[in-house]
Amino acid sequence: NTTAPATRALIERRRNTFGDGVPLFYRDPVHFVSASGVWLRDRDGLEYLDAYNNVPSVGHCHPHVVEAVSKQAATLNTHTRYLSDVVTSYAERLLGTFPRGLSKVLFTSSGTESVDLAMRLARLYTGGSGFIVTRFAYHGHSTAVAEITPAFGPGVPIGINVRLVDAPDGYRQDAPVGIKFAQDVAAAIADMERHGIKFAGLILDTVCSSDGLFVDPPGFLQDVVATVKRAGGVFVADEVQPGFGRTGEGMWGFERHRILPDIVVMGKPMGNGMPIAATVTTADIMQAFTDRSGYFNTFGGNTVCCAAASAVLDVIESEGLISNAKETGAHLKRGLEQLKAQHQSIGDIRAIGLYAAVEFVQPGTKNGDTEMALDVVNELRRRRVLISTCGPQGNILKIRPPLQFSSENCDTLVTAIDEILRIR
Ligand code: PMP
Repeated sequence: NTTAPATRALIERRRNTFGDGVPLFYRDPVHFVSASGVWLRDRDGLEYLDAYNNVPSVGHCHPHVVEAVSKQAATLNTHTRYLSDVVTSYAERLLGTFPRGLSKVLFTSSGTESVDLAMRLARLYTGGSGFIVTRFAYHGHSTAVAEITPAFGPGVPIGINVRLVDAPDGYRQDAPVGIKFAQDVAAAIADMERHGIKFAGLILDTVCSSDGLFVDPPGFLQDVVATVKRAGGVFVADEVQPGFGRTGEGMWGFERHRILPDIVVMGKPMGNGMPIAATVTTADIMQAFTDRSGYFNTFGGNTVCCAAASAVLDVIESEGLISNAKETGAHLKRGLEQLKAQHQSIGDIRAIGLYAAVEFVQPGTKNGDTEMALDVVNELRRRRVLISTCGPQGNILKIRPPLQFSSENCDTLVTAIDEILRIR
């Protein structure tokens, strides 16, 4: 065991206080004490390249965000039932990033709460209760949202009103993904209705992060959105992962598919680490909700979090982070494609902006190689580069760095993976 005694002691204290249900990353867990930009520092002062974290999306401890938070925290922070120019101005600015029909927003403190709220909106608007999600989706951890989160595995049952469909996986299926996905959703709607369940909506991470990152071809979600709307349901775009510029093609992942969601959920990168998330929808859907229910959330969209979120939008604009995601992402994808050409263990590369997946398989097959992915992640950690895995088998490298990532950072990562695969 190479873990330092002080780190082992902290792991033990953590286990004593939290129990065993909150796993740490890595066989040799890492203990960070500070960070800036795309670098984190551990307790020994060693620097790690961050190729994984999408919460500090505009860079760790970005000075502009830190200043906005500090100033607002020193000025005013209350619950959310007083007038606030900071909060209202941010809401207006955020809505300005959406197509015109999406004109109403409610703030929360987490992606889970925002998905939960989206489910309430969808139920009230459609009168239905049935939801469809992809087979290994992650949408959150509350009681209601865990029922639409099959990624928790068999220990957390999905709801009786929930149907699972295969993710639009263009690597493992031959049929055109958009058509097959729409057909599967239509079949799930029909199955629900046979069981007396009225369809409420399809909830989809628009890049299918948890299922393994499926992004191509652009436009493949058009058929499924039409199917959902024809059946009287709503399309809920979960933008917690792709949102705020990660795809390099605009602010939101759904834009790649030229579709108009009825409800959009966002979180993670929204406040660069401050807890703020949101549910955005149309005036009609919001009306169906407010006709029957008020909304109050003590912390959701407080002044400090809105100041942080507004500063995040400033940085995305002033540092051109969406075009950086596009250009640097293209460089990363090229580097990974070259790796694939040299290593038979890599079955597929999928990438959009600064979000990339490297799928490990047993050479000559499409059978996932989970052990390989785990080894690469842990060996990269040893070389002080952070990434993780995704997909139902955990055989897919998940590369999702802060949006300030540079071409040089990409080369460091790709070279490290190459070296690991050569010596393995
Ligand atoms: N939706 C997606 C797609 C997510 O990835 C997550 C978090 N992993 C959530 C929702 C839930 O967000 P939170 O952890 O902020 O509750």
